Amino acid sequence: MDLSYWLDRAVTANENWSSSFGPYPEHPSLGVDTQRFGTAFEDLTERLKDNYPFFHPRYAGQMLKPPHPAAVVGYLSAMLINPNNHALDGGPATARMEREVVQQLATMFGYDTHLGHLTTSGTIANLEALFVARELHPDRGIAYSTEAHYTHGRMCKVLGMEGHPVPVDHQGRMDLDALEELLRTGRVGTVVLTAGTTALGAVEPIHEALELRERYGVRIHVDAAYGGFFTLLAGADGPEGLPEAPWRAIAQCDSIVIDPHKHGLQPYGCGAVLFRDPSVGRFYLHDSPYTYFTSEELHLGEISLECSRAGAAAAGLWLTFQLLPPTFEGLGQALAAGRRAAARWSRLIEESDFLELYQPPDLDIVTYFPVTRPSSFSQIDAASARIMQTGMTDAEDPVFLSTLRVGAQAMDARHPKITADADGARILRSVLMKPESEYYVDHLHARLEDLARS
Ligand SMILES: *Cc1c(COP(=O)(O)O)cnc(C)c1O
Repeated sequence: MDLSYWLDRAVTANENWSSSFGPYPEHPSLGVDTQRFGTAFEDLTERLKDNYPFFHPRYAGQMLKPPHPAAVVGYLSAMLINPNNHALDGGPATARMEREVVQQLATMFGYDTHLGHLTTSGTIANLEALFVARELHPDRGIAYSTEAHYTHGRMCKVLGMEGHPVPVDHQGRMDLDALEELLRTGRVGTVVLTAGTTALGAVEPIHEALELRERYGVRIHVDAAYGGFFTLLAGADGPEGLPEAPWRAIAQCDSIVIDPHKHGLQPYGCGAVLFRDPSVGRFYLHDSPYTYFTSEELHLGEISLECSRAGAAAAGLWLTFQLLPPTFEGLGQALAAGRRAAARWSRLIEESDFLELYQPPDLDIVTYFPVTRPSSFSQIDAASARIMQTGMTDAEDPVFLSTLRVGAQAMDARHPKITADADGARILRSVLMKPESEYYVDHLHARLEDLARS
């Protein structure tokens, strides 16, 4: 896709639309000299070079990649108008786009009914879900696994609720026996299950947790900020197919968070929260002195904790979904490639004499560490840090990885033969979230073996 061609068309379309309102005098206060603009722009592009190449498959570190060109063009086209999706009057077109994409997300998860909206981030989306949880169970707290995103604990504090971290099993998924023991105390009103944990990409047993909902009268919230779009691969054939049960169970859960700015090809500033019961909209009611005059309908500002939100974010996602809809044949193909890459790499690591797999990947996050002699936590920690540093600074053929700190107990549960001479170790972690990783993973593996060997 020729990005500059479409960016040019976006600017032209905006100019044409603007000129239909007639000429008006420009104000000198906003004028800038072209030469000075040029110099400042040079400075900007120079400074932006201080970045890792998130777009390149040799970047196999954190959950980062550039948006799809469709998202860029959609975002820019709307940003030139700068609608505010707080209210219909702030931007009728992008408010409607927001409704459409949120409907598509709800359909993807199998929700028959929903109330939902885009948010600035997964953190804010989870805050909204926990806020509604508090309104429904004001006297009870929130349970989430110790592998849940750290912001759940933080948001419980913000909301003045009790947070209850629940231990995980040997694959980093919530231990349901421990959960049930906690639920028996009656202190929990809502359970958060993570569909794709941020560190390991582990999918927690949502289907099994659902059985506890009726028995203990709790709500179930699914944090699928990172993993949500993988539902498109549930039950698919081939190496990219995922076990169906946890993903299908999401349709029964009370609320869902998904981040289109992670696996939905969007620029930052695009999360989403969905509630299965639309009547929770009542908790958001407020009186605003700024009247909304064009609509009798509940508008998006009335079902969101945030006020101003970028209409451009809705336009970016809308245009992306027109071209790569959230279906197996659409966006699913991009996720399938990353999933195949992770499956292939983990097989190569299992066969390697120089690398060891920390645990088999559920999704597209591969966790591994160098084989060391002697084999101890402290040696693995030092070697992992060295490999990341050496890989990143190599002038010829750099690779960019991330490290993950794992505790002694977690390491021991998976690799009991390694000497526990420290309270944990850093290991290596690669999120293979670009489909191009599929074509690059053999090279990545060879590079990692080289680095681990030296
Ligand atoms: C990334 C992530 C979050 C936080 O989302 P932000 O968009 O970074 O605020 C929450 N939960 C999970 C599981 C995540 O992976």
